[in-house]
Amino acid sequence: MGAEILDGSGLAERMKEEMKARVAALKARGIEPGLAVVLVGENPASQIYVRMKKKDCETVGIKSYEFLRDKDTPEQELLDLIDELNKDPRVHGILVQLPLPGHIDELRVLEKIAPEKDADGFNPINVGRLVAGAEGMIPCTPAGVMELIKLSGVPIKGKECVVVGRSNIVGKPTAILLLREHGTVTICHSRTTDLPSVTRRADILVAAVGIANFIKADMVKPGAVVIDVGINRLEGKKVAGDVDYEGVSKIAGFITPVPGGVGPMTRAMLLENTLRAAGK
Ligand code: NAD
Repeated sequence: MGAEILDGSGLAERMKEEMKARVAALKARGIEPGLAVVLVGENPASQIYVRMKKKDCETVGIKSYEFLRDKDTPEQELLDLIDELNKDPRVHGILVQLPLPGHIDELRVLEKIAPEKDADGFNPINVGRLVAGAEGMIPCTPAGVMELIKLSGVPIKGKECVVVGRSNIVGKPTAILLLREHGTVTICHSRTTDLPSVTRRADILVAAVGIANFIKADMVKPGAVVIDVGINRLEGKKVAGDVDYEGVSKIAGFITPVPGGVGPMTRAMLLENTLRAAGK
């Protein structure tokens, strides 16, 4: 018996349908939800992400504003742009596409975004709120991961949860969200010794490593919920997750596919964050 597939694409579609109604309700109150997306430079992957975000906004009726800036844009110019967007009442969410060119201090830029418009939830104020259990913007990928775990129906409370990866955008915030739901949480990383012995304890295993097919079947507890955050580009246009889907799907209880798992949910949560901000 194979694992049950957690269909992120399907869940994201259902969420977007529900969002259309919420957008209509906001518009009836005279509020047109707006998301500003800022892209500096010509990173091809970033260009694709920005295009997808624009399309998602159109699907649900959110107005998107794009700001494309040259790769040599001085940091101060970017900070000034964010300042303007912070003050612009048409803009409810602001997203600065990462990574930024090397001469720009990423943290300084993220700190500039007004916390209530911080659609990605990366401003340290929102990070602090997340850790403190206060209300704030929650980063999109970790929020999507949580929705997929909920879709499995497996309760998080009291469960052994293992997150592989400790990045600020995925691993750490996901661990905090699992902790908030009363999981017993372990964070693993590149210096963890004997990783398989830790991952094998997990009732809920989240992989955010960035190495194709890294999590093998013998690292997974039978019946576990396995959430694969990885997007690893192989030769050509093929994409692989961090989990060896072929092997792991034979023993896990639930598994997310790549593509079609965490990716679409991340995109849906960005719309969700924008709508929540617009409704405030
Ligand atoms: P990152 O490179 O910032 O972090 C990777 C983490 O993996 C690090 O904390 C590192 O310690 C850990 N790691 C590396 N090698 C390891 C090893 N041998 N054993 C154990 N841990 C190891 O990456 P990230 O930004 O967190 O992204 C992780 C993956 O998720 C990437 O494939 C990325 O493309 C993908 N991603 C997907 C989405 C989405 O929407 N689905 C969003 C963000 C990132």
